Amino acid sequence: MDSNNKDKLEKLNKFTRRNLSEDEVYIFDVVLCDNEVDRDCECFSVKALEKLKELFVGKTGIFDHNPKSSGQTARIFDTQISEDPNRKTSRGEIYTCLKGSAYMVRTAANEDLIKEIDGGIKKEVSISCSAASRKCSVCGQNRLSKSCPHKKGKEYGGKKACIILDDITDAYEWSFVAVPAQINAGVTKKSYGQPEYESGGEINGCDNETVEKLCDNLKKDVSRLCFLAGENYKLLKSAADKMSVSELLEFKSELEKKCRKNPVPDILSGDEEESLKSFRM
Ligand SMILES: [Zn+2]
Repeated sequence: MDSNNKDKLEKLNKFTRRNLSEDEVYIFDVVLCDNEVDRDCECFSVKALEKLKELFVGKTGIFDHNPKSSGQTARIFDTQISEDPNRKTSRGEIYTCLKGSAYMVRTAANEDLIKEIDGGIKKEVSISCSAASRKCSVCGQNRLSKSCPHKKGKEYGGKKACIILDDITDAYEWSFVAVPAQINAGVTKKSYGQPEYESGGEINGCDNETVEKLCDNLKKDVSRLCFLAGENYKLLKSAADKMSVSELLEFKSELEKKCRKNPVPDILSGDEEESLKSFRM
């Protein structure tokens, strides 16, 4: 075993119940996210990437479009920030991305999946995280607290307005998906847990549509947190469906507390995968 592999094995074994040997694991690298503006006219700040670098260590990844989901989980055991000084983003920054090293325990069930990853087929990764700041690139306004007159994707003074995601508070999971939102096969959708004040929208009093969107976002967060906290969302879903925004917020914060207390789960058991599937539907 070369020293590079030995080093990787040592790092990943910090996350396993027993020490795994080189033959038992499959190790691969993924680009989790970068600072390029994506199709939704959003991008991460470099500071956000640095925070995500810390938060993604130990996080579980899933392969959500694969029908045979048993054993299809991987875990990030190491992360690094990588810069390409020869490449500029559309905003003129040095291209910077967050890479993750992940491992899977080799099983008969994930043999085909490993072949696909090796063959470069499943490269698009989506992450979900919470950003406390969604700044307008034109005026710097955090759109989570107040709206501004600038519309995403519209040009102002020759520059396209976009939203800069910053102040990352949490990272949940990552997954392999079919179509990436980010142009640089890396990240797709991020979920932020909070709705944004679109330009021209209401600032304080929300209209019905906004409340509905907020509830939907909160339910997604709650289902994800249920999974992380080891709760069965199938059982809680009907209750969550009847909750108001404030009840959902309270429920969410309870689950967040619970998740902080719980250690990171090990590679998922069959039951946990069941509950994962149920909230993804
Ligand atoms: Zn603005």
